[in-house]
Amino acid sequence: MHHADKHIGAALGEAIVRKPRVIIADDDMAVLLLLRHVLTGEGYEITEAHSGQEAITLCSSNQFDLAILDIVMPDTNGFDACRLIQSNTEHAPPVLLITSLDDDISVDHAFSCGATEYITKPINWSVFKHRVKRIIDNHTKQARIDHLQNHHPLTGLPNRFLMLDRLDSAILRTQRSHNFLALIMIDINNFKLINETLGHDAGDRLLKSVAQRLGHAVRDTDTLAHTGGDEFYMIIENIRRIDDIVIITDNLSHILDHDIKLDNQELHVQASMGISLFPQDGHDINSLMRNADIALHQAKGNSPYEFFSPHLGEQAHQRLRLENDLRTAIDKHQLILYYQPKYSINSQSIDSMEALVRWEHPDNGLIPPDDFISIAEETGLILPLGEWVIRNACEQFALWKQQGYPFSHISINVSPRQFKEQNLLQIFDDIFQRLSISPSCVELEITESVLLNSEHAVIEKLNQLQSMGIRFALDDFGTGYASLTYLKRLPIDTLKIDRSFIDGIIHDNDDIAIVLAIIGLAKAMQKQLVAEGIETIEQYEKIRELGVDYGQGYYWSRAVDSDEFIKVLESQRFV
Ligand code: C2E
Ligand code: CA
Ligand code: CA
Repeated sequence: MHHADKHIGAALGEAIVRKPRVIIADDDMAVLLLLRHVLTGEGYEITEAHSGQEAITLCSSNQFDLAILDIVMPDTNGFDACRLIQSNTEHAPPVLLITSLDDDISVDHAFSCGATEYITKPINWSVFKHRVKRIIDNHTKQARIDHLQNHHPLTGLPNRFLMLDRLDSAILRTQRSHNFLALIMIDINNFKLINETLGHDAGDRLLKSVAQRLGHAVRDTDTLAHTGGDEFYMIIENIRRIDDIVIITDNLSHILDHDIKLDNQELHVQASMGISLFPQDGHDINSLMRNADIALHQAKGNSPYEFFSPHLGEQAHQRLRLENDLRTAIDKHQLILYYQPKYSINSQSIDSMEALVRWEHPDNGLIPPDDFISIAEETGLILPLGEWVIRNACEQFALWKQQGYPFSHISINVSPRQFKEQNLLQIFDDIFQRLSISPSCVELEITESVLLNSEHAVIEKLNQLQSMGIRFALDDFGTGYASLTYLKRLPIDTLKIDRSFIDGIIHDNDDIAIVLAIIGLAKAMQKQLVAEGIETIEQYEKIRELGVDYGQGYYWSRAVDSDEFIKVLESQRFV
């Protein structure tokens, strides 16, 4: 809620009980002292500023009912200070200028700067007191009128008029920021019935209670409006993810769901909400309001709230549910690692494997990583999840080594956030101390995005891990922007040609050209090369013919669990 609403709303509610606030700015301490003395005696609350600049700053962060500025001040004179206060401050106070220059030019100048009045030195104190009182009275009267025109008389919240104005500027801001804006229309269930059976007083008290509850829930930057009857609106800006609005509305319906005692009757209050989003549900005030209204009618009697585009709400809900479940997935042992073999084309055998995480969800079955890794990344859950993957993959690999299998290494996918926020060095230190495998048994698969926003710290970590002996593979190679310079500078051992190029390797000349270029590059830079996503014998033969050394794909095997992996190994189907 805008500060001004709270302030003015509260002030009017109790017919202005607080003392009027006056700021005085003068570099002359003697004048300041005098002004303070006189005005305090009149019952005003005084704030002092010792320069024009200080007055401007104070006015932008406080609400005053009057600013008294001396014209002659060293840094910013009274004219300029007056102009800046009037143009920078949303609820600028009226300004009274003090001048010793009683000539027409400076008087004109005073008014053209937005001053309300001026008074000349030497000050006639009784004239001065009257003038100050008149300006403040007029100002509060005007503020009252403005407030009445823009606010609901019962709750003091912005009315429809002000709401439309706020929505309009919110849309403009959102257009610039590329975030979302939500317009939530709120209406109390059975309000009419309550109003008719318990009377208007009861109805008013109910509305005030709802306004108060909603008021506590809105942030300073949002608008809560009471547009008539039992109809409220909320404008929420700066929404980055649709999921966030689900959290907000969940919270709101929680807050609105309350008991209230009216005429000795305990009453259970509930509300319905309709949500429309900018830009997807409308580009202007009218369509956003109409669609919030449509959504509200869909919600009535069915659910606490409804989105205008129901699939949006459904998707966001689905994601939120997954997000919640994912928080406990590790502890509940629902994560499992699958392994996909990587074949050495020269030696015609399984050389290594890539660990790929799966989630055995109690209701949804086996969920592939594409459906939850991005959630994990957004929420930061990727850190515990990634660490779990690293530890378990290494344990499995150590076990296989112990059993005598001749694998060269295990490949593990790591996310950019893990590089930025996780102490990978410490994790691996710990692993190599506890398990009898060497660092060269671990290859970390990273994507170009790790390198793209490569701050110094990230590169540093890559180098440290590499000097420990850990290998690095660049995943999905060819899809991003990794330049040759990057490749030269970074400790990358392996390039994995992205699956999308393998798709066309049989008949698409462009794909063939790209793969040939990548092969040339890899050879020149002495990088190991892996072709991903080999599905057919034709693709396999083609990459062998082109001289790729390693391959991975459904042609040999999908990713399978550890038991199955050994079965694949033992039945080595290799052409
Ligand atoms: P990726 O690293 O590019 O992994 C290869 C994906 O391609 C795997 O999907 C694999 O099952 C699939 N694939 C392998 N061969 C073929 C083929 O011949 N044809 C087709 N169509 N697909 C094939 P998966 O397991 O669903 O993993 C998807 C992505 O999820 C991975 O892509 C990786 O980016 C991410 N991911 C998986 N596990 C982890 C993990 O533990 N940590 C992180 N950060 N990301 C992971
Ligand atoms: Ca990978
Ligand atoms: Ca890949």
